[in-house]
Amino acid sequence: MPTKKVLYEGKAKQLVKGPNKDTLIQIFKDDATAYNKKKHKIFKSKGVLNNKISEHIMLLLTSKKIPTHFVKRINDREQLIKKCEIIPIEFVVRNVASGSICSRLGIKDGLKLKRPLLEYYLKEDSLDDPIVSRDHLELFGWATKKEIEKIDQMSLKINHCLINHFKKKGITLVDFKIEFGRLSSNKKKIVLADEISPDSCRLWDNKSKTKLDKDVFRKGLGNLIDAYEEVASRLGIVH
Ligand code: UDP
Repeated sequence: MPTKKVLYEGKAKQLVKGPNKDTLIQIFKDDATAYNKKKHKIFKSKGVLNNKISEHIMLLLTSKKIPTHFVKRINDREQLIKKCEIIPIEFVVRNVASGSICSRLGIKDGLKLKRPLLEYYLKEDSLDDPIVSRDHLELFGWATKKEIEKIDQMSLKINHCLINHFKKKGITLVDFKIEFGRLSSNKKKIVLADEISPDSCRLWDNKSKTKLDKDVFRKGLGNLIDAYEEVASRLGIVH
């Protein structure tokens, strides 16, 4: 089969045309990057694991009535998704302090937050994805007030579903990054897009606090594939 033209190439995924004008195919690659691509490595089968973990989470969220871009998994590396216009913001939800919030604000790593914290980062590698406020989103036209309200609501609901789901598997959902888009078939409809996987979440074993996410690669803590396989296995995806 001829290779399809790549419409978008990201750090860990590619997008190619789908079977009709309102769909795309999202392809999961084995590349892992950190610190704005300063660190880069290929991990054989990471893309397959993330494809399956993200499918599992998208299906869970769909069952909880959260609209997503996900249609179906096609094979080990590919998903059929609804085409959308991505809002150029990384929406981060935190339950426990770790990562950039600790270095930026001097907060102790591992501090349990009293309530979920919502943050917004502009998706712009050349600026190192700066943190921005809700007011910036509105003022610079990245999202309308109504869209932000909807996204905040959806983010908190996603957080609630995922905290409970991971808790049952002995995993603490420390934080995660999500992206949203406007459906190309209906610009007024906001859906969860991109992926949710150990690349975009911090997942700690409940008891030992062992990291089961991309921090294993960022901080050189061991074998990334073992960590992702552990998550997949606890979710009942691979054995
Ligand atoms: N994150 C992500 N992509 C990014 C930046 C962050 O998926 O470009 C995720 C990261 O894996 C973590 C959460 O968002 O689960 C919060 O990341 P943080 O702001 O602490 O930044 P980092 O530690 O990645 O610099």
